[in-house]
Amino acid sequence: MRTVEEHQQVVADLLRSTGTEEVPLARAAGRVLAEDVTAAVPLPVFTNSAMDGYAARWDDVGSATEQTPVRLPVTADLPAGRVDVPVLEPGAVHRIMTGAPMPAGADVVVPVERTDGATDTVTITSSPGRGTHLRHAGEDIAEGAVALAAGVVLGSSQLGLAASIGRSTVVVRRRPRVLVLSTGSELVAPGEPLAPGQIYESNSLLLATAVQDAGGEARTLHFVPDDVEQFLGTVRAELAAADLLLTSGGVSMGAYEVVKDAFGALGTVEFLKVAMQPGGPQGCGTVDGVPVVTLPGNPVSSFVSFEVFVRPALRRAMGITHPGRLRTTARLTGPLTSPAGKRQFLRGWFDGGEVSQVGGPGSHLVAHLARANSLVVVPEDVTALPAGSSVEVVLIEGALQ
Ligand code: AMP
Ligand code: MG
Repeated sequence: MRTVEEHQQVVADLLRSTGTEEVPLARAAGRVLAEDVTAAVPLPVFTNSAMDGYAARWDDVGSATEQTPVRLPVTADLPAGRVDVPVLEPGAVHRIMTGAPMPAGADVVVPVERTDGATDTVTITSSPGRGTHLRHAGEDIAEGAVALAAGVVLGSSQLGLAASIGRSTVVVRRRPRVLVLSTGSELVAPGEPLAPGQIYESNSLLLATAVQDAGGEARTLHFVPDDVEQFLGTVRAELAAADLLLTSGGVSMGAYEVVKDAFGALGTVEFLKVAMQPGGPQGCGTVDGVPVVTLPGNPVSSFVSFEVFVRPALRRAMGITHPGRLRTTARLTGPLTSPAGKRQFLRGWFDGGEVSQVGGPGSHLVAHLARANSLVVVPEDVTALPAGSSVEVVLIEGALQ
């Protein structure tokens, strides 16, 4: 039996890194940056006011109190966007709004709340310290510094930063194209009537969604029955344009294991057992030169093995600096048991430092999977844990990042 880490490495080594393309910023959400983006302007772009109030010289206003207010003429009005900012002469103030450029000569902004708000001669009843309420040019990022490093996933805050430094396009990694193909003679498309012995096909959607969530582009082929000729024909018609083929089902120890029968005969795909539960039976290799990962058919096994093997490999191939899920440790709210010699990934609900097991270990428990936000990782050498034990938790909620 192969360890989880060994199989993770084999799957990761299978995938080639994806190329790049330039896209408009507005279409870059969720994409992986392929270039270091440097700041063409500093941020803030210029020194500006952090408050609505009066730009002043502290030497003129610093002594102001309720009892001894300071009265000064207002010599300019500076809304945000004003580009011709007059110098502030001694003995005067400029009215200034948040985001407007600080006039030369001013070294403090007196918030409007500390004044009577007048526009001709203002009465100031207290002053903040020298230098207060100024946002200095370059204090967030210096011109020429790396604002976003290659390998970052572009979420809202990263895209906001890219726009703030004036970028309209970015070079990102191409999304890996992943073909998804489910197998099983018992499968029926959702929406159709079920005959006795049939079940609804769910892994296509589960896996395609997981691929998209990981940042890939999924293309779902219509599922096929357990028929080697039909399976191979479907695969070969579509494979050329793919970076990865994911299959589900047909890799266990029984008869009618269509994926194992079809790919096993090619000699380029290996089938093996990984010391984990769920998701023990695995296969991977290449078909016609295209990477292939064959996942077991039980929906929870398919989901967990995608999480453990395919998702990190895909994200590494996309150049993501941190391809793994967020992990934490948590206190178990109840006891659990686990098979010896296998790493178990139980479904959990993580909240506030505690994690509760959701449903049993059965790899058919898809309704329980749908109620989980985490996987509880039980090491190979642990067979029982009492309530209150500290366990490793993988957070599986949320798209990219
Ligand atoms: P297999 O790995 O093909 O032996 O399938 C294991 C279990 O998962 C069986 O109970 C199958 O009916 C079920 N199963 C396999 N493929 C799918 C699928 N695409 N959607 C839902 N259930 C599946
Ligand atoms: Mg099957």
